[in-house]
Order: sequence, then C-alpha cells, then structure tokens
Amino acid sequence: MIKLHDKVFKPYLSEAEILQAVQKVADAVAADYKDEVPIFVGVLNGSFMFVADFLKAYEHPCEVSFVKLSSYQGLTSTGIVETLLDVPENIKGRSVIILEDIIDTGRTLQQLVNLFADTNVKAFKIASLFYKPDVYNGEYTIDYVGLEIPNRFIVGYGLDYNELGRNLKQVYQLNQTDMINLVLFGKPGAGKGTQAGFLKEKYNLKHISTGDVFRFNIKNNTELGILAKSYMDKGDLVPDEVTINMLKDEVEKNPDAAGFIFDGFPRTTAQAKALDNFLDSKDMVIDATIALEADDDILVARLLERGKDSGRPDDQDESKIRNRFDEYNQKTAPLKEYYDRQGKFHAVNGIGEITEITERLGKVIDEL
Ligand code: AMP
Repeated sequence: MIKLHDKVFKPYLSEAEILQAVQKVADAVAADYKDEVPIFVGVLNGSFMFVADFLKAYEHPCEVSFVKLSSYQGLTSTGIVETLLDVPENIKGRSVIILEDIIDTGRTLQQLVNLFADTNVKAFKIASLFYKPDVYNGEYTIDYVGLEIPNRFIVGYGLDYNELGRNLKQVYQLNQTDMINLVLFGKPGAGKGTQAGFLKEKYNLKHISTGDVFRFNIKNNTELGILAKSYMDKGDLVPDEVTINMLKDEVEKNPDAAGFIFDGFPRTTAQAKALDNFLDSKDMVIDATIALEADDDILVARLLERGKDSGRPDDQDESKIRNRFDEYNQKTAPLKEYYDRQGKFHAVNGIGEITEITERLGKVIDEL
C-alpha cells in the first residue's frame, strides 16, 4: 500500500506485467512499420515512461517526438482538453504513431485526432499501453493496445494522482476497501430520505436518492425529467435502463466519496444486478442493505401528510400511493431475498422517534 496526497493505493500491475504489455505493443507496431522510419509521438506527461521503454523494445529505425495535452484534474476527467505542446514539424508524408499511456473516455484521443487532422501524414495510428473499454465512448478504434483494464483509478508508471506517483515502477489502484456502501430499502414513506440525511453526516457518505435526481430533472425540465415525469406522476417505476444509467452517472460524479447511501435504488432485480456489476467494475461492493419496516396504513397516512407540504403529485392521492405499494410488492420486495442470499439484508423497525430509528440503523452499520 502507498499513500499519495489523501488517498491509499494498492499494487495492481507488476513491473514485469507492464513491460510485457509494452513489448506486445512494440512487436505489433514493428510488424507493420519496420520497413520505414515512423515517428513516434508521446503524449505528455503520462506517457514518458511508456515511450522510453517502448523505444528500447522497438529495435528498428525510428524518430521520437512529443505533444502535450491536459485533461485530468484530480480523479475524474474534466472534459477540458488544452494543447500545451503542438504537433512536431516536418511530419508531412510520414507515418505517425501516437504513444498514449492510457485511454479511458476517449476525450483526449479525439483532441489528438483533431490535432493531426490537417497534417497530411501518410499514416496516423494510436498505440495505448492501457485501455478502459468500459468507459471508452469515442468513435476511433484504437490501433494497438497493451492491456485492457477495468474502470479503476490507477497511478504509477507515468500516471499520476494530482502529479504524485509518476515515478513508481509498478501500477497501483485506488484502495476502496475502507468504503461503506449502503442500500436503504423500504416502501415509500418508510423514512429512507430522512434517515439518509442523518447517516450521511454521521458516516461521511454521499447520499444518492434516485427519486430526488428525477425530481431535480423534472424541475429543470431536462429530457430525462420529461421522460420520468409521466411514470412518476402515476406512481409507476421509471424504466430500468434510464434509471440504471442515471445512477451510474451519479456514482461516477463522486470518485473520491468515502462511500454511498443508495436511497430508492435498486427497486428491481435488474437494477440490483446492474448495481453489483457496476460496483464490481470499480472494485466496490454493497456492504449492507437495510430495510426500514412499517405498516401500509401508517405509511399512507405519512405520505398524505407529506404531500400537503411537498407538493409531490404522487403523495397527494391515495390511489397513486397504493399503486406505488403495488409496484414495490411486485418488483422491489423480491430484492430482500436477493440481498439475503448475499448475507447482506438487515431489517430495522421503522416506527418510532426519528432519532431512535437513526440509532437502530447506526447499530447495524457499526457492526458491519
Ligand atoms: P421516491 O422519491 O424514491 O419515492 O421515488 C419517486 C418516484 O421516482 C418513484 O415512484 C418512481 O417513479 C421514480 N423512481 C425513483 N427511483 C426509482 C428506481 N430506482 N427505479 C424506477 N423508478 C424510480
């Protein structure tokens, strides 16, 4: 384990594994270009180690140059890409092979493609040591890849976390084992939102309420909001594919969270499976699913009371509330068994003083 700034990283790829991937790229490029003198263009800063080892592994005539772009700030791609060092001169009619340390979303790559668009080179190819197929959403097909890796935040071998870690010989990944990820489970009105508000403070967690995200989108009249409104107003569930992608986005927005409280998600088995797969790809797990239990009649009374202030259409009409319970019984209730099988299901009595209920939840979390 190593610590860089505020984060702990654990070993992920050994030096030997990395050099093997470098050799693989060098051999593949050599097979295509050994009969001419290609120009290798490293993308600074991250690729400097890859470029050095690549050139040592490439035993044919070649030239080398560099460009510099910048897009990473902290742990997420900011989406802003600047050109800090431009294309080399005299590349017209030459074969250019870009050497990238890592390709994830593909934003930097698109900028590179644009940068070389009018250079009249003979060939333009991309070689990347690491590639994250799960998050890549560019159109360009990467020509040479050393190693495909899952969407984990990595440092070392030229890659940094806020400029630290570039000098490491190995590649390390963010250590997530000290995270706490909770699912708050229960019928509408059970108090999930209220309790999440307390728990997020107590345990320093990020609270994601899919209902709140939908309502925020409705308020702002976004495409997502317009789509969700028709379902929500009737008390029906919003389709899985919409909800799952939205949830993933919310998690991706908080790569440095100490953990998450998922409130109102998952609500179907498909959502639960998608959540498990998604978290697994990020080296995260659900630690516990905690259900807040209360009788329907109490919940109906609570929701009607809340509807007077909240203005939520789905809280103001008993038939819509009953429809939400039906949706819950049909689609969400089976998740109890899903999490029970994983040994993660905990039930808590949701009736009583708010502080009492927070204590009951805290007891479950502290025993994890
Ligand atoms: P809530 O605020 O959690 O009670 O959610 C209000 C409404 O948002 C629900 O009745 C659904 O229409 C929609 N919604 C929230 N979360 C989900 C989800 N995980 N899957 C499908 N629909 C959802």
